Amino acid sequence: MKRTELSHVTHTARQYINGRWQTGVTTGSSENPSDTSEVVAEYARADRSQTEAAIRAAADAFPHWRRTTPQRRADVLDQIGSEILARKDQLGLLLAREEGKTLPEAIAEAARAGHIFKFFAGEALRVGGESMDSVRPDVLVDVTREPVGVVGLIAPWNFPLAIPAWKIAPALAYGNTVVFKPSELVPACGWALAEIIARATLPAGTFNLVMGSGREVGQTIVESPLVDALSFTGSVATGERVLQAASARRAKVQLEMGGKNPLVVLADADLDRAVDCAVQGAYFSAGQRCTASSRLIVEASVHDAFVVRLRHRLAALHIGHALERGVDIGPVVNGEQLAQNLEWMTIARDEGAEHVYGGEALQRATTGHFMSPALFLAKPQHRVAREEIFGPIACVLQADDYEHALHLANDTPFGLCAGICTTSLKYAMHFRRHAEVGMTMVNLPTAGIDFHVPFGGRKGSSYGPREQGRYAAEFYTSIKTGYMMA
Ligand code: NAD
Repeated sequence: MKRTELSHVTHTARQYINGRWQTGVTTGSSENPSDTSEVVAEYARADRSQTEAAIRAAADAFPHWRRTTPQRRADVLDQIGSEILARKDQLGLLLAREEGKTLPEAIAEAARAGHIFKFFAGEALRVGGESMDSVRPDVLVDVTREPVGVVGLIAPWNFPLAIPAWKIAPALAYGNTVVFKPSELVPACGWALAEIIARATLPAGTFNLVMGSGREVGQTIVESPLVDALSFTGSVATGERVLQAASARRAKVQLEMGGKNPLVVLADADLDRAVDCAVQGAYFSAGQRCTASSRLIVEASVHDAFVVRLRHRLAALHIGHALERGVDIGPVVNGEQLAQNLEWMTIARDEGAEHVYGGEALQRATTGHFMSPALFLAKPQHRVAREEIFGPIACVLQADDYEHALHLANDTPFGLCAGICTTSLKYAMHFRRHAEVGMTMVNLPTAGIDFHVPFGGRKGSSYGPREQGRYAAEFYTSIKTGYMMA
C-alpha cells in the first residue's frame, strides 16, 4: 500500500453515548509503536458518571431493540459487515499504526471483523428453539432463547478490531444492547468500529462506546446493576477481578484470558512444516496473541535439528515498522511491554534456561518498540516455560517420546490451544482427544483461527460459554422453558 496522508493523520476519537458523539471528561492519546513521535489518536476519556450514562442509555434502549425483527437486526449487521469489508485497507492501516501488527496482518484482521458481522447477520435469522411433548398429557413444552439484556463488553489491545467484533456482533444479533469499552492502547480502532456501527442507524442507546481506564470505566461497567452480562477478554489478573465483582452480583460472565500454548513436534513430523508452525505461531504479531505457541515441545531425536532450523529461520525474519513492505514482525505494543519482555530475557537466563537466539531491543530508522524474536532451551519448571509472556519469546522443551510430550503439553495452568506436528494419524487423533484445551491444531500453528466456529479454552484460560460461531448464543441469550395446556 502506498503511504498517504492517512499514514500520519491524528484522529480525534469521541465516545458514542445514547446515539450522540460526545467528548470526554479528559483527553488521552495513543501513539504509534513503530514510530513513537506519531500520535495516532486523541481520544475522549470517560469518567464514572459518563459511563453510567452509557449504561442507562443501553438499559433504556433494550425493551425496544429486543422487540426488533430478526430481519432488521440481520440488515443492520450485514450493513456494518459490508462497510468494514469495503474499508478493510483503511481500517487495517489504522490498526497497524495503533497496535503495531504488520499491514497485511492488520488488513486481514479488519476483513475478519467484517466477516464476523456478516456471519452474525445470518445468525440473527436462525435463533431457534425446541418444542416437545410434555410428560403430562395434553401439555406442550417449548424451549426458546431470549436476549440477556444490557451487555458490557471489555476488550484487550491485541486484536482491536476482531475481538470487539466477535463480542458486539452476537450481542446485537440476539437482541441485546451494548456498552463497549476498548483498551486504552487502541481507542482509535474502537472508535472507527463505532463510527461504522453508528452509521447503521441503530436506535439511540442500542450501542454505546466508552473509552478510558479499566479501573474507572471498566470497573463501573462490571459493577453496574444495570449490566446483565459481561464479556471480558484480557489478562488473568483482570479477569479474576471481573469474575469476583460480577459473580458477587450474579451477573452472567464470560472470560477469555491468557495462554501458554504448546506446540508438540514429534520425530515423524515434516520438520520444515513444524518450523513454519513454530515461527508463525510463536512469533508473528510479536507473540502478542493469547494463542501464541510459547512452548515448543520437541521429541528428543529431532530436537537439535529442529532448534538449528528454527534459529536459522528466526535470523532471517525482518523486524521493523509495521507499514514497511517485507517486514515480518512489527514492534511490540508499547514501552512497558518491551521492558517486560527484556526483563523476561533476564529471568530466563538467571533461572538457567539456555539462550539460543535474539531477545534484544532493536534500533530502526524510527523510534519504535522493536525487539528480535527470542528462543530458549528450557526445563518444564522454568518460569519462562510456565508463565504467559505475551511477547516474541518462546522456549523449547525436550520430550522423551509422545507420552512425555503430551504430559508436558498438559502440565500448565492454562488450556487455550494445543498443537501437534506429526504424520502419525494415531498420535494426531490421541492428541486431539487428550490435550486439555479448548482448541487443537494438527500440523497447523496454534494461532490463526476461523471466525465461524467456537473460540475459547479450559482451565485458567477461559470461564463461561464459548465465543464465536453459533455457540455464542449460549452467552448472549437466556433460555426460557414454556408449558402450555393444549
Ligand atoms: P488487561 O487485562 O490489562 O486489559 C483488558 C481490558 O480490561 C482493557 O480494556 C482494560 O482497560 C480493562 N480493565 C483493566 N482493569 C479493569 C478492571 N479493574 N475492571 C474492568 N476492566 C478492566 O489485558 P490487556 O493487556 O489489554 O491484554 C493482554 C491480555 O489479554 C493477555 O494476557 C492475553 O493473553 C489476553 N488475551 C486473551 C485472549 C483470549 O481470548 N483468551 C485474547 C486476546 C488477549
